[in-house]
Amino acid sequence: MASQHPPKRRKLSNEAFPKLRDAEVQKLRELPVWEARQAVLEGICSNQVYVIVGETGSGKTTQIPKFLHQSRFKKDKIICTQPRRVAAIANATRVAKEMGCKLGGLVGYAVRFDDASTPETKIRYVTDGLLLREAVADPLLQQYKVIIVDEAHERTLDTDALLGLLKRMQRVRKDDFHIVLMSATLDAGKYASFFPGAKVGLVQGRQHTVQVMYTKQAQESYLDAALTTVLQIHAREPVGDILAFLTGQEEIDALCNLVRSRGLHTKGADGQEKLHPVAIYAALPAEQQAQVFETAPLGTRKVIFATNIAETALTIPGLRYVVDTGVVKQRSYQSRAGVDLLAVVPISKAQARQRSGRAGREAPGKTFRLYTEAEFEKLEATTTPEILRVNLASAVLQLKALGIPDVRAFDFVDPPPLPALMARLPVDPRYAKILLAAAGSGCAEDAAAIVAMASVEQVFISGRTEQQRQASMQARQRFRRPQGDHITALAVLRAFLATGKGKRGEWCAQNCISGRAMQRCHRIFDQLCGLLQAMKLPLERLGDNQDPEPLQRALTCGLFLHAARRQPDGTYKVIGTGQEVSIHPSSVLSGSKPDCIVFNELVFTRRNYARTMCSIQIPWLTELVPSYFTKHIAR
Ligand code: ADP
Ligand code: MG
Repeated sequence: MASQHPPKRRKLSNEAFPKLRDAEVQKLRELPVWEARQAVLEGICSNQVYVIVGETGSGKTTQIPKFLHQSRFKKDKIICTQPRRVAAIANATRVAKEMGCKLGGLVGYAVRFDDASTPETKIRYVTDGLLLREAVADPLLQQYKVIIVDEAHERTLDTDALLGLLKRMQRVRKDDFHIVLMSATLDAGKYASFFPGAKVGLVQGRQHTVQVMYTKQAQESYLDAALTTVLQIHAREPVGDILAFLTGQEEIDALCNLVRSRGLHTKGADGQEKLHPVAIYAALPAEQQAQVFETAPLGTRKVIFATNIAETALTIPGLRYVVDTGVVKQRSYQSRAGVDLLAVVPISKAQARQRSGRAGREAPGKTFRLYTEAEFEKLEATTTPEILRVNLASAVLQLKALGIPDVRAFDFVDPPPLPALMARLPVDPRYAKILLAAAGSGCAEDAAAIVAMASVEQVFISGRTEQQRQASMQARQRFRRPQGDHITALAVLRAFLATGKGKRGEWCAQNCISGRAMQRCHRIFDQLCGLLQAMKLPLERLGDNQDPEPLQRALTCGLFLHAARRQPDGTYKVIGTGQEVSIHPSSVLSGSKPDCIVFNELVFTRRNYARTMCSIQIPWLTELVPSYFTKHIAR
């Protein structure tokens, strides 16, 4: 249990930071967490779980572990997690410097393949993934007295998993230990209700006004726009460094090179000779990362090209101008390919605000959003947690390996046959779930056909000439089923299989269907049927004229995370996440727009499109997946 004794107030002398200049020490003292120091320490010591919310740059990451070490926890090990390795390394380096010790001594870090910590290390910065792996070996993390989960608002899969683990640990571990969650946004206060008895503490930041500018028109290329804007800021605006948000290493390196060649000749508004470009992204070697924090050479203006790592994870001093491209590279699951892919997607409003905030830490600043105000209004309010975005197979397996069956949104993983089925069927767990549900209602063979069809690329060939396109449209129309694309796909495969072997090539040509895709689909179908039989599941099918409702229900069981309801304006909203989607024009449902659908995948172009879908009835959701939908439908 938490101790009831607040820590003794301790006088800290400047000798604590021999490696910092006096002016720098003074700057530390001015950080918002210094004012809140006593309250923060008391909050942590008198609560087993304490959530600290404070603006980026207020000093949470670098100061709080130090406060703890310098008060009651001098002899204890304090661990602080970061979602990214760059942040773990940079923060450890900074804190070691502030405390005047060498990295790997009193202060150290450990990330995958790089451990700069020793048994003497008392303040250890690590990635959340690394702590998760430590937790496999030592589920109670006995060696740590204080466990700080930083950047909790990021909601990475690893952070979420770690929190589930800590909650369990809280029940089991009986000694005096403390869990601290730190976050840049208030909605991470949600975590407080996740942990029984947790308290939330606010660190009041000092934020200067930031003037936000939008573009008048949507920009064709955010890279061109970013480069132009950076050069304009340099030419027109008074002193102050620039931070530009891009999406990845290639872009960042390219723009750094361009600025190096073009900015060379642009005189700055305050007489600076040139721009001094610096890059920061996750894969950057540690030595080069340090550059981002160094002041630019005399007579130059620093411009930092960064990924979203500079949003909250790293605080860079000296910034006055932010260039926000409005996009981020994000891991999301591509169901067709069956893999997690990194895709460039729009940021959320919360992220846009975080980015703007970076300009106003030290003085009033300006943010240049390279998108229109109308585009901003259309952004999602907050970023979808990774757990709802990525391949559930990997998430579930990881959590299962850690022995966590119940991390909040993970409740639905429980159905016992699922892991067994997953292990034996070489398909996405969502499809495995569909097969299983269908087997329970006499239509496993049909479900296998649907899964097989979903596993191949476009079956219909659209044709090059107008005449071919017409023929293709008519063919699609022949197979069209009002329940949606899955049931339509089933009709196609059934018709194909009903055609004699020797006639199938001709049949495909007549119906503008790819023969090769159908052959592949046929092989997958046979394989799935074989596996279902081997598992002693009844391989049955619905009659040709039978209502396909059992199949629609089975699809609901597997695709429920992608259930969406029609809005008054004809677009759809994903029930679990609130995400807005439109029906892809290729869907057979694009004209009829049923009240509720489940769909296979999302495609991002200028809009979010749902592709391959089936109409369902709303009451099925609570009936078939009560653990998930009782809470979402009620909202
Ligand atoms: P938070 O975690 O609340 O976002 P930090 O502890 O990361 O805040 O940063 C607090 C302050 O310390 C920043 O505003 C910045 O001025 C300074 N700082 C942090 N890291 C460095 C660094 N590597 N070099 C110089 N200053 C730094
Ligand atoms: Mg921080």
